[in-house]
This record gives sequence, structure tokens and C-alpha cells, in this order.
Amino acid sequence: MEVMYKSTRGHSDTITASQAILQGLAPDGGLYVPTSIPSLDVDPAALAEMDYKSIAYIVLSSFLTDYTEEELKSCIDNAYDAKFDTQEIAPVVKVGNTHYMELFHGATIAFKDMALSILPHLLTTAAKKNNITNEIVILTATSGDTGKAALAGFADVPGTRIIVFYPKGGVSRIQELQMVTQKGDNTFVVGVNGNFDDAQTGVKKMFNDASLKEVLAQKGFQFSSANSINIGRLIPQVAYYVWAYSRLVKEGSIKPGEKINFVVPTGNFGNILAGYYAKLMGLPVDRLICASNDNKVLYDFFKKGIYNRNREFILTTSPSMDILISSNLERLIYKVCGSAELNREYMKELSEKGVYSLNITQIAALADFSAGFATEQENAGEIKKVYDETGYVMDTHTGVASCVYRKYVSETSDTTPAVIVSTASPYKFGRAVMTAIDPAYDSLDDFALIGELNKVSKVEIPNAVREIMNAEIRHDTVCDIDKMEAEVKGFLGV
Ligand SMILES: *Cc1c(COP(=O)(O)O)cnc(C)c1O
Repeated sequence: MEVMYKSTRGHSDTITASQAILQGLAPDGGLYVPTSIPSLDVDPAALAEMDYKSIAYIVLSSFLTDYTEEELKSCIDNAYDAKFDTQEIAPVVKVGNTHYMELFHGATIAFKDMALSILPHLLTTAAKKNNITNEIVILTATSGDTGKAALAGFADVPGTRIIVFYPKGGVSRIQELQMVTQKGDNTFVVGVNGNFDDAQTGVKKMFNDASLKEVLAQKGFQFSSANSINIGRLIPQVAYYVWAYSRLVKEGSIKPGEKINFVVPTGNFGNILAGYYAKLMGLPVDRLICASNDNKVLYDFFKKGIYNRNREFILTTSPSMDILISSNLERLIYKVCGSAELNREYMKELSEKGVYSLNITQIAALADFSAGFATEQENAGEIKKVYDETGYVMDTHTGVASCVYRKYVSETSDTTPAVIVSTASPYKFGRAVMTAIDPAYDSLDDFALIGELNKVSKVEIPNAVREIMNAEIRHDTVCDIDKMEAEVKGFLGV
């Protein structure tokens, strides 16, 4: 059955998957959603015998129905290859009584690689299928990890350019170095004097600017997005939820058909939404536990049904979750509202007043989710506790999820098997991880810390980290929020 895509804000066009991937954001500022969720027509026992690529194919072919089998298989083969440091692609490891799904074995050691290693292939294939001759300009705002993963994916891809905006001072040292050392003539990296929400709002504004679109078109350019607002980011992420389930069946931790929980460290709500789509497809998932750091706007939302971004933006040691406007939540709101009109109303309230409140029926429709948060201190305590008890070293984002899960179990006594989604390598956030284990490490410089982390974790230093140790800085542009458009025009020469 063909799956089509439409805007969460009611724009009348219904378009194919490849067109939605090309456009990124709908013309009315809405996000594309599938008009129907395909069902996962595979026996869970059969899943256990499949490899990552086969499962990715099942999921992608269910949602991206206007791509041919050959096209999808070629995209998958080009994405999940030796760029990953393990053939498993996303190992599910047992630590104590809990499972962690490690999504950080790709080129830039964060979970964004899971989708961004395939998005350039889906996008260039989409351009061919739709006879697009314009050069595609990927415009991206990043809280730290998307930027590098997108740069790595799009660098030197013919027919594309990529521009990344990151909050200057709002990302880890390693994250910043990874981005500013990026090679490729089609890449451009800009630090913004503002936070992630400022950068994301600036990017969305450019997407919605019809006159800018016109100017670009005259010069043979068109925008697309590598942010999780692009459905081409979201769908590949559904695959690893199915994969995690298949691993638990394979190792005998669960019986085929038995339900499991997922705990997801959340910022822009893209990762956990993919888990929700997996559940809607029919994967036996009970609860999706949304884990926040001190920027706990989502925790408050799930507790009270009120989304309120009017609060202090807090910089934490899990910077990729330092977000107050979670873009992908709009896809869930649209679903629970059951209509684009109501969703549009809420999004208007969000942009004008910074707050909206769901009604009782809509709140009831959120029942698949639980939520928790971890303070900075709790997170550091969790990283240390798990290390002391098991020797496993996790990054600060995974630490938030792990801590939230511990609190969840003590509050609910829910014994459903759970998978904690591990979103980054500890090497990416070495300072915060190491000082959680022992504050004395804080006196070391960033690269000395990496050596110590290697000793403590007994995990090899990833290539992604080795690479930047001596790399040349190639990007040093910094701009104010109101100059983002000027930077884009400058880079494109329009
Ligand atoms: C992006 C990111 C998150 C948040 O994921 P969302 O899809 O934005 O909710 C969590 N952890 C890490 C390491 C990330 O890079």
C-alpha cells in the first residue's frame, strides 16, 4: 500500500515520501507525517534471525513506498557499511540487569549517524526520481551532534551544499572541534551567538521565507533539511527499535511477542518519536520513557499536559538535550489532536505565547509515554554508580536516561524488560564523564582526558576522536542571530 505524506498544519498537498524528503518542511511550516502507519508484517521470531540491514529494509520499504527495492537497498548498503566500527551497527549490550542499545558506532560517534549516514543517499535518490536539477542546500541547526553527522554525510556529495549553525559556547569542546575541522568544499559551519532554540528558529524562518526561496531558485538552489523535522531522518530511526527488539528475542531475554519498554534521552523528540512509530507499526512495546535533563519542558508536558517554554534555558553537560522547543513533538500533538486545525492552533500559541495546554482527551492519548528527568548531580551520580558497579562507562545523555529509568523502576516497580537508548560515545563528552567518575580529572586538558578515559573504560579511542586531535581548523565564522540569512547568502553567493 502506498504511504503518502501531508503537513501537520493542514496544507492541502499530499506528496510522496521522496518529495517530502526533498522538501524537509511543509510550505505552511508544518512537518510531514505519513497519512497511514504501515504495519510490521513480520513474525518477531523471524526478526531475530535478521541483520541490521534486513530490518532497515523492512522498515524503510514500509514507509518510503515510492522508492524501488533497488534504490532502497543501495541506500542501505551505502549507509550501514565500514563507516560503522562494528558489523552489528547498533550493538545491544547487557549491563547488570539492563540493556543499553549503543547507537554511537558510526562516523561521528552519536546516534545521529544512524539516520544521517543514509539521508544523503535518500535525498540524492529523491532528487533524481523527481528530476530536480537545482543544487540542494542542506540548512541545519544543531545542538552539537546533528551538525557533525550531517557534515560527514554530505561532505563532497555532488549536487549538494551543507550549512550548519551551532550555538557558540553551547556545545562540548570535542563537538565543536569535530565541526570546525570539517573538510569538503561544499561545507560551511557557523557559530551563532545564541542558544540552540535561537539557531533552530532562525533556520525554520529561512525555510518559511518565500522570497528567499525565490532568490535561491533563480540561482539554481533549493533548501532541504537534515534536522529531524525531515521525515527522511525519522524513518531510518524506526529501524533500530525493531532491531533492539530482535536482539532481545535472539539472546532469549524475552519471548517473541513479549512487550518491552524503551528509555530515550530526549531533546528535539525525534528519537523517541521513531520509537512511537515502531510501536504504532505493531512492535510489542509497552512504555516509551522520555528522559530529560534540567531543561525538563517535556517532563512537565507529560505530567500536566501543558507545554510551556517560558523558562530559563539551562546549559548542561548533556548539551544535545538542551532544548526548550522540541520540534518533533508537533508530530505527536497532531496525532493526539486528530486534526491539523487544532495542532495549528497550539503551534500558534507556542510561537506567540510560548505555551499551550491540551484537553483531557488529548492528554489521555499520551498514555504510551512516561517521563522523568535527571538533574546534573543525579546524572553524574548515575554515571559513577554504573561505572563502579559494572565497569561500563556511558556518556552524559545516556546517563540521563539510565538515571530516569532507575527512578522510574523505583516509583512504579514496573519489571517489563527495558532497553536504554544510548545516544553518544563517552568520548564525545569526556570531561563531564570523567569528572563524574572522579572530580580530580577536571584539571587535565581535553586530550589528556581522552587518554584517561581509554584506561578507565578499556574501550578503544574512536577514529572520530583521533581524527580531530591534529586536524586543521577550517571554519571560524561566528554571527549574531539576525545575521544568519546574510551568512547563507554569502556562502551561496546570492
Ligand atoms: C540529538 C541527541 C539527543 C536528543 O535526541 P532527539 O531526537 O533530539 O530527542 C540525545 N542524545 C544525543 C547524544 C544526541 O545527539
